[in-house]
Amino acid sequence: MEKVVSGIRPTGNLHLGNYFGAVKSFVKMQDDYDCMFFIADWHSLTTQPKPEDIRRSVKTILAEYLACGIDPEKAVIYIQSDVRETLELYLYLNMNAYLGELGRVTTFKEKARQQPNNVNAGLFTYPTLMAADVLQHRAVKVPVGKDQQQNMEMMRKCARRFNNIYNVEYFPEPQDFTYAAQAVKIPGLDGSGKMGKSDGNCIYLCDDDATITNKVKKALTVSTPTEPNSEKPECIQNLFTFLDICSSPEVKAFFEEQWNNCAIRFGDLKKQLAEDLCRIIGPIRERIQQFSSDDALLERIARDGAERARASAAQTLREVREIVGFSPTQR
Ligand code: AMP
Repeated sequence: MEKVVSGIRPTGNLHLGNYFGAVKSFVKMQDDYDCMFFIADWHSLTTQPKPEDIRRSVKTILAEYLACGIDPEKAVIYIQSDVRETLELYLYLNMNAYLGELGRVTTFKEKARQQPNNVNAGLFTYPTLMAADVLQHRAVKVPVGKDQQQNMEMMRKCARRFNNIYNVEYFPEPQDFTYAAQAVKIPGLDGSGKMGKSDGNCIYLCDDDATITNKVKKALTVSTPTEPNSEKPECIQNLFTFLDICSSPEVKAFFEEQWNNCAIRFGDLKKQLAEDLCRIIGPIRERIQQFSSDDALLERIARDGAERARASAAQTLREVREIVGFSPTQR
């Protein structure tokens, strides 16, 4: 089976955009690929979070991914900082990465703009740490969003350059990977194009039914159309996107017809949508609560994942040390 590696940013709770846009496809992917999912806690240090915040968000993310269906029997799920082999590969890759190319990475330039008082070397070398995360497992596929394409290009450059410098065919060049036929984009209920944490328009997987219903109730709408078959403004299109993803085809067809006949009642649509969302989120939320309250289980899963990830990375690092000219094992 082909090896797939994906990093998960430990930033806050998972929302519906994360679930339908990424996590759900991870759950399917674990049946078809040799998957490794890691919680990128080292990466999060570029913004200097408090230790207690790191601990809490790593635990939250682990519990939420498990609740969504990531299965430690099928995939390896581990915490990045548990596998120190990554750091050694990061060092070798940094030795062959150039200031110019790292400085041109758009995500670096963006971050440097966002945090002008903390443009640290970790931000600058983010792409080589990301390359080490993947190359240490010699993975061939990485599920990433569009914003990561330049980092993926850097990753391939790191692999190619290492192979060229040492005249080996050692690292494969990992490819960007979209598992679903088409990536779904989850809109915001505030009429914006995308649900996102920084936009404050998220429905979270840990939200209770009342919160979900309330958020749906507040969704932006327009007045009922007066012309049959009117074009839908963005906020209405967004509601229909939700129906498409969360409700039955009959429900969606019903409200389409109502819209086209100028008879739509948005209160009814929202009530139905809230019910359908609660039906999807309810069982996930219950599992989040179960996992979150079982520290021993989370610890066992993290330890087992770390062991398997270390075994994979240690094998690579033994070979890499030898290629680079060091003793394959540490004295
Ligand atoms: P973020 O929480 O913004 O770091 O997002 C993590 C991943 O979740 C992204 O790389 C996307 O794959 C997915 N994602 C986040 N928001 C959305 C959205 N509104 N629609 C679809 N996918 C999303």
